[in-house]
Amino acid sequence: MRSTIKMDHCLRCGGRRFERIIKALQQVADERRFEAEVPAQRCRRCQTEFFSPTDGDRFQLAVALRLADLGASSGAALGFMRKALGLDAADIAELFDVEPVAVERWEGGGLPAPRCMFIALAAVIQDKLLGRHGTLDRFRAQQRPARRLRAAIHVELFEAPRRAAAEKRP
Ligand SMILES: [Zn+2]
Repeated sequence: MRSTIKMDHCLRCGGRRFERIIKALQQVADERRFEAEVPAQRCRRCQTEFFSPTDGDRFQLAVALRLADLGASSGAALGFMRKALGLDAADIAELFDVEPVAVERWEGGGLPAPRCMFIALAAVIQDKLLGRHGTLDRFRAQQRPARRLRAAIHVELFEAPRRAAAEKRP
């Protein structure tokens, strides 16, 4: 899953010689400091370091997930998790069936956000890191429940791997 970056020329100085390095990324979120290492390329001429945008995005998602694992429940933590997912306040409002102003109040610290939001968003983030979308599918199912059928619905008891594979399909 680890991505690599291969530079043809430096986006800053046009140089064509690079050295492979391991770059330390840092992020402060919810008054905590997080770090991770990513493969990067450093321009030998101007020393600018380049790493894959995918790795940058995954770092943000991993930090957001860790925040939830640590039990963070502040407005700042909620905002960080939302942004890591690339969602805006209106998207969150739609998912959780609330007004966008409620999301702004939660993130601004005016009102404590419901704790279940952190659990649900962490599940979405974990899915995204694993290339799955089961949690978002469940959100959509809540908005558009399936019709009731007379026929029995078969459920699998020991097919978790197959289900995970099915979730990976777009
Ligand atoms: Zn350069």
